[in-house]
Amino acid sequence: MKKLFYILIFINSFIVFSQGDASIKSTYPVNYFQNPLDIPLVLSGTFGELRTNHFHAGLDLKTQQKEGLNVLAAAEGYVSRIKISHWGYGKAIYITHPNGYTTVYAHLKKFNDRIESYIKKRQYKKESFEIQVFPSSKELTISKNEIIALSGSTGGFVGPHLHFEIRNTKTEKPINPMLFGINVTDSKKPRINTLIGYSLTKNSHINSMEIPSKLSLIKLKNGGLRAHKIKAFGKIGFGINAYDQLDGAYNKNGLYSLSMLVNGEKVHEFKANTFSFTESKYINLLIDYERLENLNQRIQKCFIEPSNKLSLYNKPINNGYITIEDGLNYKIEIIAEDFKGNKQKITIPVEGKQDSILVKKKTTITPYKIDRTLFNKFHKNGITIAFPKYTFYNNLYLDFDVKDSIAKVHSPIVPLNKRYTLTFDVSNYSSEEKKQLYIASINKKGKTSYETTVKKDVTFYTSIKKLGNFRLLTDKINPEIKLHNFKNEQWLTHFKTLKFKISDTESGIKSYRGEIDGEWILLEYNVKNGILTYDFKDKEFTTAKHNIKVTVTDNVGNLTTINANFFRKK
Ligand SMILES: [Zn+2]
Repeated sequence: MKKLFYILIFINSFIVFSQGDASIKSTYPVNYFQNPLDIPLVLSGTFGELRTNHFHAGLDLKTQQKEGLNVLAAAEGYVSRIKISHWGYGKAIYITHPNGYTTVYAHLKKFNDRIESYIKKRQYKKESFEIQVFPSSKELTISKNEIIALSGSTGGFVGPHLHFEIRNTKTEKPINPMLFGINVTDSKKPRINTLIGYSLTKNSHINSMEIPSKLSLIKLKNGGLRAHKIKAFGKIGFGINAYDQLDGAYNKNGLYSLSMLVNGEKVHEFKANTFSFTESKYINLLIDYERLENLNQRIQKCFIEPSNKLSLYNKPINNGYITIEDGLNYKIEIIAEDFKGNKQKITIPVEGKQDSILVKKKTTITPYKIDRTLFNKFHKNGITIAFPKYTFYNNLYLDFDVKDSIAKVHSPIVPLNKRYTLTFDVSNYSSEEKKQLYIASINKKGKTSYETTVKKDVTFYTSIKKLGNFRLLTDKINPEIKLHNFKNEQWLTHFKTLKFKISDTESGIKSYRGEIDGEWILLEYNVKNGILTYDFKDKEFTTAKHNIKVTVTDNVGNLTTINANFFRKK
């Protein structure tokens, strides 16, 4: 893999990057892109921030805890993509600019009239609220400062804010918008909460322990941190939990860079400049995934696991693995830095000492040994699990059991590189029973969730990227639909919208469809509150009496239909 490393030099209005292994100079234009909101920039999320299964690909701009703020084009260009989805980015616009970059605006409430009518036409044609289109460069040209949308909170369980990205148009790699001068005041240094020491090979140890150990920190007079002296031997590494706060907001944002020095020599450096979406999954190797699952704490490691293919690192030495020899002393420094260069540092004094190991790593040997380079398939009591090559990042012994109808497929503390298949034998169920039967995952708290179930004659399977407990469940309950803002047979002449509340208690909602007088209508689905909204602007009526019909289907196919009549003057 090509590794680039950049030295930042600030020169007046643009930033020059000189690449370490090539003589090419690349520049990011500064002051080309403007703040896409017409209020001062305050951030609730930074680029490269550690999120669930991915790195944050842009900036989260605060919108005063409300929706409906003007979203302006950051520069001139054309709308190259519009995407509307229930989850993820919600309503999103992509603008391609003539300078080789594309900006992305997500979680929008509503597009401007021109874009709104463009996309509605296509939604009506496709008969779907969820849609993705790629307009040509001639269709929706945008001038700088043009109001393209109103900010919102669409796309799953997100609060009001504007997610803003800058991508390289060709490679589609997101780039840290701060490199383009989109900037905020930040006078506070990052805060480091936790330091963890890791023994990384057999026989290595920290304070006589093989297991990861939390190392206590002492606050120094100069504001820095120092760890108590540790005794260690063999290959070890470190990780920290840290966040950065900007001026004017309490939000805990991500670091811009994290580096580690051993006796003054830099052996590790992470920098949130740019990455590709395909490598984003390796975040689960950058963090201590087991600790996140068990304690809900994100530790960013200062060493690189063998399977970790992230390009966010600069020329590491020994991948950040430190070899401690008996009788030698070491000074290790970990430096967390924000984009403005504010730094927090931990100094860790290490004494090399080969000790006997008092707390050993536990390895439970089971009959289900995973060689990650091979296809692995196991079967027990009607359950089959099949793992393609390289599903796992490491070799391990799988904890696999089937008891009281629950299939235990190891534990969610191990992250996966790809999906595997989990198959249930359903030959004991009648064809009638099979209709409402589905595969569910069971979380720590015992809550069950529908997993996409593919139904074959005598087997059901799911293709899934998480380990844990699974079982078959039956969903006999139909979805519920309620009229939300009107009553049957009501006059609705002055109503702007019609709303329904929909829900499903077991397998969850799979699809919905609305019709007025037998014709498909666009219903906006808000997954946060289960509200379906019809906009009366979509249709002109020529008669007074109308019928509206809404049908909702759950994931096993249980179906509910509601019919209502309403009256409306032309
Ligand atoms: Zn975001």
